[in-house]
Amino acid sequence: MGVDLSSRPGVAHATLSVEAPKAEAGDIREQAHRRAPLEKGHLFNARYVPFQAVASGSGRASEETYSLDEVVYRSRDGGLLDVEHDMEALAIYGPEYWRALFDSRIGRTSWPFGSGVWSKKEWVLPQLGDDDIVSMFEGNSNLFWAERLGREALGMRDLWVKQCGNSHTGSFKDLGMTVLVSQVNRLRRLRPEAVQAVGCASTGDTSAALSAYCAAAGIPSIVFLPADKISLAQLVQPIANGALVLSIDTDFDGCMKLIKDVTAESPIYLANSMNSLRLEGQKTAAIEICQQFDWAVPDWVIIPGGNLGNIYAFYKGFKMCLDLGLVDRMPRLVCAQAANANPLYQAYKKGWEHFEPVKAKTTFASAIQIGDPVSIDRAILALTATDGIVEEATEEELMDAAARGDLTGMFNCPHTGVALAALTKLRERGVIAPSDRTVVVSTAHGLKFAQSKVAYHAGEIPGMAATHANPPVPVREDLSAVMDAIRTKFSSMR
Ligand SMILES: *Cc1c(COP(=O)(O)O)cnc(C)c1O
Repeated sequence: MGVDLSSRPGVAHATLSVEAPKAEAGDIREQAHRRAPLEKGHLFNARYVPFQAVASGSGRASEETYSLDEVVYRSRDGGLLDVEHDMEALAIYGPEYWRALFDSRIGRTSWPFGSGVWSKKEWVLPQLGDDDIVSMFEGNSNLFWAERLGREALGMRDLWVKQCGNSHTGSFKDLGMTVLVSQVNRLRRLRPEAVQAVGCASTGDTSAALSAYCAAAGIPSIVFLPADKISLAQLVQPIANGALVLSIDTDFDGCMKLIKDVTAESPIYLANSMNSLRLEGQKTAAIEICQQFDWAVPDWVIIPGGNLGNIYAFYKGFKMCLDLGLVDRMPRLVCAQAANANPLYQAYKKGWEHFEPVKAKTTFASAIQIGDPVSIDRAILALTATDGIVEEATEEELMDAAARGDLTGMFNCPHTGVALAALTKLRERGVIAPSDRTVVVSTAHGLKFAQSKVAYHAGEIPGMAATHANPPVPVREDLSAVMDAIRTKFSSMR
């Protein structure tokens, strides 16, 4: 069909062809199946190696390696594993190729590239078939210019918040879980008897993500939750998604110990972040940050840390961008911990000489209430390699910082509050300069934490001044009472 536009004003002799796009047959998964398999997918590969080998720079030479199709969580000596990519194969295609490829996939619906994670598939799990992928088009979260918070509260011009909590289950755990559950989906196809269910211990967000992705794929899931230590929203998520929810009378560290024993002796696959597959998904948030700044690197990235897999995942994402030439430097990383669960902070203060687990005390930042972080070695590598810093925030500091941010249009979870409180301290000490481009990673949606935010604004948290409390004002159904209340708040109004 051709449309002659020559009779329209201002359009001389132009003929515009407006072919209707041809509708492709089948659903998007079937369409992906018919497409030639990822043109270059078979050229790349990834495998497990001991994390120690990566840390010592001998990853490629390590003789201890495992296929990603094996069910293995630990190296022979009991250490962590790492997913290692064939960087030489990836480097054959220059930075322009990768930038253009990744940019071309943003915001599309073609399977599976509508996902921010799988739009980077060659850098995540290159050998996984598109058919095996379990995705809800996670990632691609907005990078928010925190204009008023930066200017008015922190004296900064270039402050950004990466809104990773604007995601399917309301936290950035979706990024890693799509990768883990996709690989599990493949394993179950290859060896159905080997993986009959997937389990995790959780401070809330991991279980929400695991149960949602398993439900999307029809895979049974089991979650171990510390009784009375997670928010109501986090508890109802796995319940709604049909997981077996075990509420156990212990803390996160206790749940973790139990799930390790259970997965060691049954065909239940371990989904905790000890499992290095999840970090491959989490790292894409760092790649996305570079991409959103048109492949430029911010000066600082501040991440709340508990089990400490994520501080390393962000490091790994930035490092891949650097090593493959997409960017020209690394940011400085800041790990922000709750003072009530601060073993990394304490080790940092001692110059990394000595690490000792702590008994984590209750914190509103419940997802990082972890005293014995499984990824401690990963975190120390990430921080020492980036001239990184560890900061801490008390309960009052983290709730005030979250609430201060909310007053500029955000709706922060307490973990984001920990990161914002850390930023405040680093600004006050002059470590971060007014013009430094700084990204705060917001890790969960504030709506998951409505209970504690309501308690803050009601002034109901014992011992907390709640500087930014803004409780609702009860008024009679009466015009003058309503006007009095308005004038009390806005004293300049007549
Ligand atoms: C998991 C989580 C974190 C911390 O990530 P770690 O890898 O455990 O350090 C921070 N915030 C939220 C909301 C989380 O769910």
